[in-house]
Amino acid sequence: PLSIGIVGLPNVGKSTLFTALTKKGGLAANYPFATIDPNVGIVDVPDERLGKLAEIVHPGRIVPATVEFVDIAGLVKGANEGEGLGNQFLANIRETDAICEVVRYFTDPNVMREVGRVGEFVDPAGDADTIMTELILADIQSLEKQLPRLEKDAKRDKELAVKADVARRLLDWLNEGNRAATMEMTDEERAEARGLFLLTMKPILYVANVDEDQLGEELAPIDGVTPIPICAKVEAELSELEPEEAAEYLADLGLEKSGLETLAQAAYRLLGLQSYFTAGEMEVKAWTVRIGAKAPEAAGVIHSDFERGFIKAEVASYGDYVALGGEAGCKNAGKLRIEGKDYVVQDGDVMHFRFNV
Ligand code: GDP
Repeated sequence: PLSIGIVGLPNVGKSTLFTALTKKGGLAANYPFATIDPNVGIVDVPDERLGKLAEIVHPGRIVPATVEFVDIAGLVKGANEGEGLGNQFLANIRETDAICEVVRYFTDPNVMREVGRVGEFVDPAGDADTIMTELILADIQSLEKQLPRLEKDAKRDKELAVKADVARRLLDWLNEGNRAATMEMTDEERAEARGLFLLTMKPILYVANVDEDQLGEELAPIDGVTPIPICAKVEAELSELEPEEAAEYLADLGLEKSGLETLAQAAYRLLGLQSYFTAGEMEVKAWTVRIGAKAPEAAGVIHSDFERGFIKAEVASYGDYVALGGEAGCKNAGKLRIEGKDYVVQDGDVMHFRFNV
């Protein structure tokens, strides 16, 4: 599944949020917790459309999409200086598709901002800057380590010469205090740059850990990105409740969605992802696919054979499917479309693939 690394300064609420996200309710049923790393939580992506589809087809089970959250410890100011800690940190974060940075907005004076420093004001922009500096420094170190090798390889291979050139330019760019993702690159260069495994190439989303009464507020952007307000304390309480109680509690707070839902949806947007559905007697299931993906690529998410042998797809939009009571209703109303290999999949499409084996 999509994997997201949670980072942030100490005491900003990372563990509280991570624990809440991965509590029994959120934890995906298909992944027994005991078999995976305690710092990894695979959680279902809540999607109310699944329930609506299930009301129509009465499937044996509902299978939501999942997101993997990785609690990445060890990022403190100066982390890049401590070789051991730094390496472990890098190893954990390198594997993730995106970074979710928790930034402290909550004001509780009983929680120290940093060990030994009491009674300070919150400073979200400053904290985000500290973390970004650490990520940039880690990337600089990593590039300096990779460069001698890249330069050597560049002499014997044109493609590797492109990679070495991008690496050199990135090093300058990072040294000027920029993150890798913002450097101008051609598509080819960008592809090569991905092979350098830089942290600041990853999409980043900011979670503002706010006080309860800040929950509805629009926050000022950090580094050009609007942070997502979440209250880790509320999420922790929500994770202890039964679904109906949780819904009531959310309503009391004037909220429609839990933080997890908001976060998962924001991550999908950030990464340019969407869901399509399959609906049958056995299961109703959400599948994750790139926005802009065509039908065969979507089929390939289910199985590579489906992509290779793709013939056509029967497609109903989610809206039609629900309004017309399912596949038969769509067919009668002429809303069940037969689409070919150039069809661009839309969010919420209910799909059925025909393929050769
Ligand atoms: P981490 O070091 O980033 O993992 O931070 P923790 O999750 O351990 O939280 C540090 C302290 O802040 C704990 O005492 C939490 O109870 C407290 N805390 C976390 N989130 C919130 C919040 O939203 N509001 C308040 N008031 N306290 C919080």
